[in-house]
Amino acid sequence: MVNAIVGANWGDEGKGKITDMLAQESDIVIRFQGGANAGHTIINEYGKFALHLLPSGVFNPRVANLIGPGVALDIEEMLSELATLRDRGVPEPTILISDRAQVMMSYHVLFDCLEEKRLGKNSFGSTKSGIAPFYGDKYMKIGLQVNQLYDREVLTERLRRAAVIKDAMLENLYGEKPLDVDALADKYYDLAQKIRPMVCDTTQYLRRALKENKKILLEGQLGTLRDPDHGIFPFTTSSSPLAGYGTVGAGLPPTAFEKIIAVTKAYSSCVGAGPFVTELEGDEAEELRRRGGDSGEYGAKTGRPRRVGWFDCVATRYGCLVQGATECVMTNLDVLGYLDEIRICTGYEVDGRVLTDFPVTRLVEKAKPVYTSLPGWKCDVRHITSYKDLPENCRAYIETVEKEIECPIRMISNGPRREEIIMR
Ligand code: GDP
Repeated sequence: MVNAIVGANWGDEGKGKITDMLAQESDIVIRFQGGANAGHTIINEYGKFALHLLPSGVFNPRVANLIGPGVALDIEEMLSELATLRDRGVPEPTILISDRAQVMMSYHVLFDCLEEKRLGKNSFGSTKSGIAPFYGDKYMKIGLQVNQLYDREVLTERLRRAAVIKDAMLENLYGEKPLDVDALADKYYDLAQKIRPMVCDTTQYLRRALKENKKILLEGQLGTLRDPDHGIFPFTTSSSPLAGYGTVGAGLPPTAFEKIIAVTKAYSSCVGAGPFVTELEGDEAEELRRRGGDSGEYGAKTGRPRRVGWFDCVATRYGCLVQGATECVMTNLDVLGYLDEIRICTGYEVDGRVLTDFPVTRLVEKAKPVYTSLPGWKCDVRHITSYKDLPENCRAYIETVEKEIECPIRMISNGPRREEIIMR
């Protein structure tokens, strides 16, 4: 049985907490796309962690944590995250890395930084983790698969091929030095030895796991609106954060999927550039940002202040639809307890017409939010453990949103800690 946890919005919805919680009853947790640009915040008995590349099942020693072929594997970042877990007393996790996953090279990170610098004020707000250059190389067929690192000749030959193109760009576009292929070959050959015991054919492993009825959990990074095809292109990421891509990026049959759990926040937040229709400015934004998340809305990867706004039903309905969500989790409900009135966006006004279906980026950029106001509940709901005990206005908020997004909200997260969850 395969369940997926994915983002319904721009990322940072609180997927890490939900994955950590559901990992308690899973056998395998899989990252299937993206790389160390994720920032999944987890607070549990070992403390507070921001996982960037490791799957969020690493706190449960019973779980196999799998890095699928669709992931951008930054070996150094992964080893440093593992070292942090060890230092902080987390039992040694089981990690399995697909031998077909491709490797994030130091020059991908370099290219990401150089390009954002070149773009200046038109930059995309990249996390500078090398993601776009990595996936560019993968589809240009000049990337390196993990298995290729173990053959010195193949490794050097692949690097030489990439360097022809990379050097032309480095020298002519960015005015930088060419790549040192031999030094790179040494570095990645050595790094490969450090992860050798973890590397395997994860596709066959998963096939056996399915036969044995193991419980498999897919962990998406970012959210629908960052999908290269369905999101707010070009303010998108370079791999698909959709549950549907999970079948490709993890190596699982589409028929094995059961639940697709889309995570959404009780308000909106987003890191990076691009249209954000319900964005708040000034004091209102500052207050929500300060109260949001576990210690304010600041990027778990970059520390940058997140843009915040009212809940966007248009974007979230679309987000759930594209994910094929079978259910939703609403997180950060506790954060809204200070407000007298809470707004939700139920339509986009574009060129004098009100749209309720999320349009293409060109039109999202022109959209003005159409709001409905709901009364706040004006109290702290963090200690509450059952749905019926939530204040009436709070339940009305959840139920109004649920109707708007056309997806059942089955779980409500009312605090950052693992146990702060209300099942419906
Ligand atoms: P992810 O990338 O989707 O895992 O999300 P992040 O970890 O980047 O951001 C979610 C933020 O919300 C983190 O600061 C979490 O600790 C926090 N968080 C998650 N659920 C809740 C909740 O129900 N209430 C509060 N107050 N914070 C939460």
